[in-house]
Amino acid sequence: MIQFQQVTKRYPGGFDAIKQLSFEIQDGELVFLAGHSGAGKSTLLKLIAGIERPTAGSVLVNNQNLARMRRASLPYVRRHIGLIFQDHKILFDRSVYDNVRLPLDIIGFGHQEGHRRVLAALDKVGLSGKDKLNPVSLSGGEQQRLCIARAVVHRPSILLADEPTANLDRDYAQDILQLFKSFHQVGVTLVISAHDENLMADYGRRILRLKHGQFTA
Ligand code: ADP
Ligand code: ADP
Repeated sequence: MIQFQQVTKRYPGGFDAIKQLSFEIQDGELVFLAGHSGAGKSTLLKLIAGIERPTAGSVLVNNQNLARMRRASLPYVRRHIGLIFQDHKILFDRSVYDNVRLPLDIIGFGHQEGHRRVLAALDKVGLSGKDKLNPVSLSGGEQQRLCIARAVVHRPSILLADEPTANLDRDYAQDILQLFKSFHQVGVTLVISAHDENLMADYGRRILRLKHGQFTA
């Protein structure tokens, strides 16, 4: 479960990107996060991931309070989280395979099992057979799917995606959302942000709407 209790995030300079926000997301839920640019969507996702710490209030992820946790313990929480952020951070000095493999190497996965996982993740996102390529030769959409493969290869229980459909045409955006839906179907908790609410409407899921760091109706 993800639980925010009266969370405020003030950035250096004094700007409150998130203001006294309280909500819960249950295990296995698929929740959309809507709001214009600057509403606080990325900040909220970073708070769940432990990339940012709350200035006030508490952020609980699987019953652990990230606000109180020692920095050294955060990597253990992050193992249960998969991140798809806008700044892809694809490494262009290595193959598609090695990009997806990286998180497993960091965790210290066994070689055989790691290999199987990488191929399964690439298959899942439709990139089988492209494993030996350099990511430069992938299309924008394929790079997006590479990021998704890399985010799920360690089988996280929580998947956070920051505007994964931005800059994609509508059909392709729907494909990406279908892919997320398939993770939802195997029990993964998903929080997906987007500024285009039309895309979310078809899914009949809960939509959290942010404006100036607070929820609106
Ligand atoms: P969104 O994802 O909805 O576009 P963000 O969470 O990125 O919103 O940003 C919310 C507000 O916080 C914006 O006004 C932005 O300028 C500000 N902000 C975001 N990151 C930082 C930062 N590292 N330092 C200072 N201000 C920031
Ligand atoms: P595997 O071969 O690793 O068991 P599957 O063939 O069962 O994988 O397909 C499940 C796909 O969904 C895998 O690519 C896996 O990376 C991805 N996935 C991500 N998160 C999870 C999860 N929590 N449970 C199951 N599969 C997950």
